Amino acid sequence: AKKNTKKDNKNQNLRCPIVCVLGHVDHGKTTLLDKIRKTRVAKREAGGITQHIGASEIPIDVIKRLCGDLLKMLKADLKIPGLLVIDTPGHEAFTSLRKRGGALADIAILVVDINEGFKPQTVEAVNILRQCKTPFVVAANKIDLIPGWNSKEGPFILNFNEKAQHPNALTEFEIRLYENIIKPLNELGFDADLYSRVQDVTKTVCIIPVSAVTGEGVPDLLMMVAGLAQKFLEDRLKLNVEGYAKGTILEVKEEKGLGTTIDAIIYDGIAKRGDYLVVGLPDDVLVTRVKALLKPKPLDEMRDPRDKFKPVNEVTAAAGVKIAAPELDKVIAGCPIRIVPKDKIEEAKEEVMREVEEAKIEVDDEGILIKADTLGSLEALANELRKAGVKIKKAEVGDVTKKDIIEVASYKQSNPLHGAIVAFNVKILPEAQKEIEKYDIKVFLDNIIYKLVEDFTEWVKKEEERIKYGEFEKLIKPAIVRILPDCIFRQKDPAICGIEVICGTLKVGYPLMREDGMQLGYVREIKDRGENVKEAKAGKAVSIAIDGRVILKRHVDEGDYMYVAVPENHVRELYHKYMDRLRNDEKEALLKYMELMQKLTNNIFWGR
Ligand code: GDP
Repeated sequence: AKKNTKKDNKNQNLRCPIVCVLGHVDHGKTTLLDKIRKTRVAKREAGGITQHIGASEIPIDVIKRLCGDLLKMLKADLKIPGLLVIDTPGHEAFTSLRKRGGALADIAILVVDINEGFKPQTVEAVNILRQCKTPFVVAANKIDLIPGWNSKEGPFILNFNEKAQHPNALTEFEIRLYENIIKPLNELGFDADLYSRVQDVTKTVCIIPVSAVTGEGVPDLLMMVAGLAQKFLEDRLKLNVEGYAKGTILEVKEEKGLGTTIDAIIYDGIAKRGDYLVVGLPDDVLVTRVKALLKPKPLDEMRDPRDKFKPVNEVTAAAGVKIAAPELDKVIAGCPIRIVPKDKIEEAKEEVMREVEEAKIEVDDEGILIKADTLGSLEALANELRKAGVKIKKAEVGDVTKKDIIEVASYKQSNPLHGAIVAFNVKILPEAQKEIEKYDIKVFLDNIIYKLVEDFTEWVKKEEERIKYGEFEKLIKPAIVRILPDCIFRQKDPAICGIEVICGTLKVGYPLMREDGMQLGYVREIKDRGENVKEAKAGKAVSIAIDGRVILKRHVDEGDYMYVAVPENHVRELYHKYMDRLRNDEKEALLKYMELMQKLTNNIFWGR
C-alpha cells in the first residue's frame, strides 16, 4: 500500500481489501482479471496498477478516475487506499488463502457468464462464500455476446439505455439477467438484482454486467467492490500499523539463486526484512529468518529478464510478497505465517498453531481418507463431502502415498465402502500406484471439488447396488415344476425324469420338496436336449437328475408338482427386500410357495 500523507490522516489505518475472483470454468475469470490489470488511465496521469507478488493493486485514484460521475451513485466517499486483487482466480486460491476464522479474501467477485448462467462450480462457489461469510458481487460477464448488444469500454450504466441499445437487445438482456442469474441466486437463498436497482446492499446481492473482452462494466464493478468493502468491512480493514505482519502462503516456489521461496499474501501489519518468519505447519511450527522480501521489478527497471525481483526493506498490508528464507522446503501452501521481531516469536508460534489447529478437520470414527494440496482446500473438500453425507476417517494435506493406501486397505476390511481416497489437486506418488492395484483401493483424483463429490457418491451408489445384488444372487429363489407324462427315466440313485418348469427358475443345487413338504433331494444335473445347463426358466421342458432319498413313481409320479424348498430366511429377504427384482413368474412362485408353507406349518406368518 502507498504511504499515506499527513493530509489524509484519518485514512491512515485502512488497508486495501483483498479481492478474489471465483466462478465456473470458461466464464471469463482470467480474461476479466487481465482486463482489470490492464486498465490504464491516460499515461501522463500519475498512478496506475501496481504489480505485487500474486496480486495486483488498483489504487483508489485509478478507480475514481475510471468511474467519474458514476461515483455519485455510491453516496459515500471512498476512503480505502485501493483494492488488492488476487491474481489466481478460482476457489482453489480462495479456499487455500484462509486465515483465523475464515477466508483471507475480504470480498469476492463471482463471475457468471450471463448467457450460460449458473453451473455446478458457480453453485459450489456460492456455497463456499456463504460458508466463509464472505460478501460478494456478481460480475455478469460476456454481455457483448447478447444478441444485438452494442458493447463498449467504460461504465455499463452509461451504455444501458434506449439510445445506446436496440430495444430487443435490452429485452434479451433483462431475460438473461433474470433467468440465468437472479433466479438461480434466489434458489440458493439470495436476493439479487442489477446493482443500480439495489436499495439495500446489505440485503441484496449486486449484479454488475460486464464484458471482459470490451471492458464494459469494469468501472462499475470496481466501484461496487470498493464501495461494498468499505461499507461492510471497515473494521476488518483497520490496519494494525504497530503490529507485525500476518499472512498466508499462496504458493511455494523454487527460484534460481534464491532456493525455495514462498509467495505470501500479507493481510495485516508490517513485514520487515531481518525479522523472524514463523510458519504454522500441520504438525509443526517453523521459525526461520527472513533473508529477503521481494516485489516484482517494474518493467522499466528490468535490465535482465532473469532478474525479476526487487528487494524491499518492509511491506505493509495488504500486499503480496515473495519471501526468501532458509528451511522453506517443508512448508505448504495455505499455511499461516507471521513475520515478527525476536521477542514476539513465542506469541506468533502460539497464534499460528492455534490457526492450524482450527483448520484441522473433525473426523469420524470410520470413513474414507481425504487429501488436498492446502489446509484451506482440505477444509472446503471436507465440508462439501460432509454435506453429501460422506464420513471422513482422516483428512491430510499432501500427495497420495503408499502409507495412505495401506491405511485405507485396513478401512476397507471393516467396510468395503470405506476403501477409497478422495484427493483434491494432489498427485499419486509412483510408489503408491502398485499398492492401489494390490489392495484394490479406489482413488478419486480431481481439481474440481464438486466433481470429486459427484464421482465419489456415484461410486458409493454403484458399490451398494453391487453388494446388494451379490446378496440377492446368493438367495435361493422359488420355482415350481411338474413331472411330465411318460418321462420317468430312472427311479432312483439318482432319479431322472423329464419336467416342465411352471414358474420361477430351477437351478442346479436347489433342494426339492413334495407338495406336502417331504424333502426329495437336490437337483444334481439339468439337461436341455442332451446339453448340460445350469438352470431352466419357466416354460422350459428339461430332464433332471435328483440326488437324495426320492424314489420316483413311489414318492412322486408323473403329473405331480415339485417345489424348490426355499429356506424361510431366504423367503423373508426376497419378500421384504427384493420383490421388485423378481420376474412376474418368480413372484408367482414365491407367493404360491409361501401360501403352501403357511398351510403346511399352520402359520400364517411363515416367510413374512
Ligand atoms: P476462466 O476459465 O473463467 O478463467 O475463463 P477465461 O477467462 O479463460 O475465458 C474463457 C473464454 O471465454 C475465453 O475464450 C475468453 O476469451 C472468453 N471470454 C471471457 N470473457 C468474455 C467476454 O466478456 N466476452 C466474450 N465474448 N468472450 C469472453
